[in-house]
Amino acid sequence: MRPTGREKIFVSTNLISSGTTAREKVNLRTPDVMAAVQEQVESHYRSDVVDGVRRNGGIISVGDVTVRLAKQFGFCYGVERAIDLAYAARKVFKDRRLFIVGEIIHNPEVNEQISSLGIKNLTGRNKQADISELQPDDVVILPAFGTELSILQQIKDHGCQIVDTTCGDVMSVWKRVRKYASESVTSIIHGKAEHEETKATSSRALGDGKGHYVVVLTLADTDYVCNYIRNGGNKQEFLDKFSGAHSAGFDPDVHLQTVGVANQTTMLRGETEEVQRRVRQAIFDRDGPGEAAKNFRFFDTICGATQERQDALRELLEVPMDLLLVVGGYNSSNTSHLAEMGEEKLPTYFVLNASRLVSATEIKHYDLHEKREVVSHFWLPPGPVVVGITAGASCPNNLIEETLIRLFELRGISREQLQVAA
Ligand code: SF4
Repeated sequence: MRPTGREKIFVSTNLISSGTTAREKVNLRTPDVMAAVQEQVESHYRSDVVDGVRRNGGIISVGDVTVRLAKQFGFCYGVERAIDLAYAARKVFKDRRLFIVGEIIHNPEVNEQISSLGIKNLTGRNKQADISELQPDDVVILPAFGTELSILQQIKDHGCQIVDTTCGDVMSVWKRVRKYASESVTSIIHGKAEHEETKATSSRALGDGKGHYVVVLTLADTDYVCNYIRNGGNKQEFLDKFSGAHSAGFDPDVHLQTVGVANQTTMLRGETEEVQRRVRQAIFDRDGPGEAAKNFRFFDTICGATQERQDALRELLEVPMDLLLVVGGYNSSNTSHLAEMGEEKLPTYFVLNASRLVSATEIKHYDLHEKREVVSHFWLPPGPVVVGITAGASCPNNLIEETLIRLFELRGISREQLQVAA
């Protein structure tokens, strides 16, 4: 059985991979380090209120406000492990410079905490240092979604100690696309081409040079690829359409002959299944049943935690509710899919944290279609109200607690009253 949650902390393996220079392996998970890490992580991210509501079956009612929590939400095992390892690295390498490749996870508050530990970001929007500045004595943390091979090689070239927090579920996607590449099968990756995980996966899809990939985000992208598989088309138009989302030297006339579908671990399961179904049908239509079996591969790589959160929200959405709050970082893929699921059923507000609940008549929230934060008014109906709350795999419980408390405060119910009820 896959370990989940905090019990994973004491599963001990060699956690630091060596660079190209021979480096001793260091086990970060010694009992004393992990006990200190556990205390520090819990002080940053734990919530008594959320724990209390969970013990009450996920429901809390005070006055005329009822909140229902999804059965599964918040930090997944991969995120917990990554955060634990980053905190442990800080404790073990007290006197060394620590860096991280991008954001450890997609949550600004968590990333600020990591930054406050003196861990500097090497890439992305909040870059604080450059890979070229690295020294052999430096320690570099790889985030939960992994990193591209080219970046990994640069870090190894500097001889740094590497703390690899890549989630095992992400690594199993890499294994799959590497296998496709070894058999000259092109990977059709369902994901966001600019997402760190998909970039890391794409780099592995090249294999030792034989592999190719194209990334499809939507069903419309998929249909375009399927149409090309069936009928051919304008090669340059294809390459322009998937600019930045295909391998160098990709030729749709050659590299769509034998394909395998893989996906970013945090996509919507139903959509990924549809991508797979449509591509398989296109190959079937082009090649007939005998050849299609040879020219199409598929492997489900949606991770267990993403699946559990989507299933739990689906169950929550079966209960009549007035609105849904989805809490999490706006660049979090799995959180945005939860918001998509909510939108199909009821008014849904994707909020970064409690501060976005400005008043009972104003809320700031991320619009998935406009891809920016917007303001909505009169979001909280007067009178008895039932509000669902869920959160993505990168959202800590303390942020969910603050959102829940803010919601009740807007209806005149104090933090203290709520803590008593929870
Ligand atoms: S969302 Fe899934 S793949 Fe990503 S870190 Fe969590 S468990 Fe791993």
